[in-house]
Amino acid sequence: MDFEDTPEEAAFRAECNKWLSDNAEPRSEEGDQTAELFEERDEEAFIKEAQAWQAKKADAGWACIRWPEEYGGRSATPIQQVIWNQEVGKFHAPEGVFTIGQGMGGPTVITHGTPEQKEKWLRPLLRGEEIWCQLFSEPAAGSDAAGITTRALRDGDEFIVNGQKVWTSGAHYSKWGMLTTRTDPDAPKHKGMTYFIVDMESEGITVRPLKQMTGGANFNEVFFEDVRIPAWNVIGDINDGWRIAMTTLMNERVAIGSGSGGSGGMRALFDLARNSTATGTRGSEDPEVRQELMKLQTLANIMKYTSFRTLTSISQGKVPGPEGSIGKLILVKSMAASADLAERLSGAGGMCAGSDAPEHGRWVQLLLSYPGMKIAGGTDEILKNIIGERVLGLPREPRVDKDVPFKEIPGGTLASA
Ligand SMILES: Cc1cc2nc3c(=O)[nH]c(=O)nc-3n(C[C@H](O)[C@H](O)[C@H](O)COP(=O)(O)OP(=O)(O)OC[C@H]3O[C@@H](n4cnc5c(N)ncnc54)[C@H](O)[C@@H]3O)c2cc1C
Repeated sequence: MDFEDTPEEAAFRAECNKWLSDNAEPRSEEGDQTAELFEERDEEAFIKEAQAWQAKKADAGWACIRWPEEYGGRSATPIQQVIWNQEVGKFHAPEGVFTIGQGMGGPTVITHGTPEQKEKWLRPLLRGEEIWCQLFSEPAAGSDAAGITTRALRDGDEFIVNGQKVWTSGAHYSKWGMLTTRTDPDAPKHKGMTYFIVDMESEGITVRPLKQMTGGANFNEVFFEDVRIPAWNVIGDINDGWRIAMTTLMNERVAIGSGSGGSGGMRALFDLARNSTATGTRGSEDPEVRQELMKLQTLANIMKYTSFRTLTSISQGKVPGPEGSIGKLILVKSMAASADLAERLSGAGGMCAGSDAPEHGRWVQLLLSYPGMKIAGGTDEILKNIIGERVLGLPREPRVDKDVPFKEIPGGTLASA
């Protein structure tokens, strides 16, 4: 494990920091993005601000830096992307709404798209003019992303799509969606899928928001009723959609965060313990609270050093190992324990949400949002399977439906077309 930048990395970091200092406002408390995340915001205004920021970066050559130069990026190495992420985290930079399109969609089109598809989609995506969403999960296909039943039937130069997707983050403000469909139900499940880029304004698409217990509605149900998609929009070959979807999913894991180990959250928790008397004594003097705080600080340190391990292998040009799964498991465990402790320390005020609540209601938001984190980007159980199989060398899970025609698998009934 190497904690220091190489001379080249340090020079790149200085270059990023110089441009950011000239073009964005620094955060008041370095590394602590948690509080801002939980502030109430006007979504439309936020998107406009994010698009303006994206265009500014694109003009200066700082948008999608991992993309090849010919598509507007700067062919940055993975470690340069990590350095940029770390530096941008120190400034007010509205980035989130483009993560799915730029981090997952763009690389998929760059890898598998035709020259004409690249011409059409990449530049507006890079400049933030068009937002993308990911239409993979269905009511009965989440962890098993190949178990989808949304049907696409060929009709001349078009496909007619029927079915339903769910948990689609940002579908309500996206222009394009990455869509997985079933085109050959006679083939085994991984071999009969086709991958499209669908115009979210197409006739027959209905987007319905799903209200979350946090009060927000970031994701949606998306219904397809006889939606016509040009065959031109297929990425890769027909029935080869699983291979293309794997590129999208692999890039989901490469979208690496700042690696700050949650230090901002810990700082806020220590402050809360210092100021609270809700447990009957000052939190920072309560032996049980002190023990909990130390357990959480230990978890934060484990996350930090595990992420350094990943960064070191990226810096050395290696593919990061399964430690990302360990990091995410610990992150969620620590979010749950932090929320529990913060609620105990906050007393009745800890139940209030909204901008006029104590600390903008950040702790109740954490309490209500961490269950979603246990699921998004791989559930705890799926991550444990990965660790069991790839770290501990345990036998692989049995995959009894691997070579069976999809239509013969229980649940393999397709949406009618
Ligand atoms: C915040 C958030 C944002 C999301 N955004 C998107 C998005 O933009 N686009 C999109 O397509 N999807 C999105 N999803 C959906 C997400 O990918 C799925 O929820 C996830 O893959 C789990 O699928 P599922 O909900 O169908 O649960 P299931 O896969 O049905 O799992 C149910 C339970 O069974 C367990 N389980 C399943 N398989 C196994 C196994 N093999 N071994 C052991 N246990 C297992 C799971 O761990 C879980 O506890 C989002 C989800 C969340 C929470």
